[in-house]
Amino acid sequence: MGQELFGHDTEFNLQFAAALVNTAPSSGQGGARGPGGAGRSGGHGVDLLASQDELDAFCDRWEVTGSRTHDAAELLAVQRLRPALREAWSLDRDELAGWINNMLHRHRALPQLVRHDGWDYHFHATDADRPVAVRSALDVAMALAELVRAGAQDRLRVCDAGDCDDVFVDLSKNAARRFCSTRCGNRMAAAQSRARRRAG
Ligand SMILES: [Zn+2]
Ligand SMILES: [Zn+2]
Repeated sequence: MGQELFGHDTEFNLQFAAALVNTAPSSGQGGARGPGGAGRSGGHGVDLLASQDELDAFCDRWEVTGSRTHDAAELLAVQRLRPALREAWSLDRDELAGWINNMLHRHRALPQLVRHDGWDYHFHATDADRPVAVRSALDVAMALAELVRAGAQDRLRVCDAGDCDDVFVDLSKNAARRFCSTRCGNRMAAAQSRARRRAG
């Protein structure tokens, strides 16, 4: 991955947040669906986190550890976290700081250094026995706090493709990333060259 702008766990949790937000049904198509940004085709008016199996697969993919209840309430809580997280993508620095403080306060963050599953010491925002939606919300809030501290909240971007409203975190050196995925980038480049051919 080259040099990182932020700590590994911060970048990981930011990308986790974007991936979680992007599982929600949207009007767009294309989009980043995992750590590798592999696209899923077709308009995703579908919820990609609609079942217990999909939640399990998502948690596996993002190496979510800690307690799980595997019931409907857990799934609903994670689904409901998505619009709250998406909101972070639309806030200015002061608003985002308030959003983070509210999240940390409401869910009673209890930051702690832990070492597990081959990962060296890193922060968990609360205890491992809290519900997965709460742990996710707090881990993301802590990661977003790093963006605010660095004045880098503009790294939270929405895809520039006209038919995609997926969110992403621009962790590139020059902060010039416009699309959520190479899939959207390629589609827009193709559309642009078609338009040029028509014009010329
Ligand atoms: Zn961990
Ligand atoms: Zn996109």
